Amino acid sequence: MTDEKDRPETRAITAGRMSDTHFGAVNTPVYRASTILYPDMAAIKANKQPYTYGRRGTPSTQSFDDAISDLEGAARTCTVTSGIQAIGLAILSVCGAGDHLLMVDSCYEPSRILCDRTLKRFGIETTYYAPGDDIAAHLKPNTKAVFCEAPGSLTFEMQDIPAIAKAAHAHNNGSGGASVLMDNTWATPLFFQPLKHGVDLSIQAATKYIGGHADVMLGYVAANARHAARLHQVHGDLGLFASGDDCFLGLRGLRTLAVRLARHQETGLTLARWLQGRPEVARILHPGLSSDPGHTLWKRDFSGACGLFGVILQPASEAAVAAFVDGLQHFGIGYSWGGFESLIVPAHIKRTAKPFAAEGPVLRIHAGLEDAGDLIADLEQGLARMKDAS
Ligand SMILES: *Cc1c(COP(=O)(O)O)cnc(C)c1O
Repeated sequence: MTDEKDRPETRAITAGRMSDTHFGAVNTPVYRASTILYPDMAAIKANKQPYTYGRRGTPSTQSFDDAISDLEGAARTCTVTSGIQAIGLAILSVCGAGDHLLMVDSCYEPSRILCDRTLKRFGIETTYYAPGDDIAAHLKPNTKAVFCEAPGSLTFEMQDIPAIAKAAHAHNNGSGGASVLMDNTWATPLFFQPLKHGVDLSIQAATKYIGGHADVMLGYVAANARHAARLHQVHGDLGLFASGDDCFLGLRGLRTLAVRLARHQETGLTLARWLQGRPEVARILHPGLSSDPGHTLWKRDFSGACGLFGVILQPASEAAVAAFVDGLQHFGIGYSWGGFESLIVPAHIKRTAKPFAAEGPVLRIHAGLEDAGDLIADLEQGLARMKDAS
């Protein structure tokens, strides 16, 4: 159904459709199944039918996987029940006992915990590199994977993904170079296609923008041809899958992703620019702003920005920040992001490779689909409360 020439916005609409086998239904309906029947003994012996057992896929999961593979330019996509599960799956597809993983210091914090606790227990060693580092200096003879996330969680630092991929692939580790893994949740496959920039395994917390409505947990790993078989094998061995209901919600979200993202981007930039002009704000962390140190890389490689960014306030007391945040009407206080609603959370930045210097308290804002003027009025009143509480 999809044409290589079509732009991602069009492919998000056409990819993964199976109307011809579903009585014309536009989006693939929900399949709930464990047992899938075979017609006879010969069929079960051949084990060649498209669906064999619920855990290994149904038309609902297949539609989602196919749509994602199309958008990512992937040989295969494996879907799981959360973004963090996708991160674990990607790492276990390329690393084993005795291997070294080079992880970006600005990663999503649960990724760090997974590496430092559980993966360590299984003999995978992780060291951290600063997002702007030349990784060549950090590669070890047993480095099997380099993990990227750009812009990084909480601090939004960009990375030179093609340069990292080049150095990782050229690494002499006795097994054809180190694999490059990237958590691309911020940009989504609409605004950055990791595999086209040298990444081997592209990871997405589909819980965020692909789901888009704060009501589903979903994640996936999309692999290039060289990594597809191993990814599929580990996904199967660990018994990972996502339900037909959740894949259906992911697919439904995907169909409107482009219009939602355009609005999240616009409102995010509007709020970021407004905040940048306020005396209570020290600095905005958003690679889409021309003042941002990552702007040149973002402009070179990405085709857009989502609605998530950081704000570093001027030094302020905890009580003053609470007066700002607690009274907001349109910004919920909560984790996750990518839904239709605006959110705000305090950011606690953890770094081990290179410290991150912040002038004052850091907040993370998700610009939702509300009217930007209403959101600015809300923030303005919040900053006034902060001043009164100072
Ligand atoms: C939320 C998030 C994840 C994890 O996704 P879950 O579905 O919550 O497990 C991974 N990476 C990034 C950058 C995230 O923001």
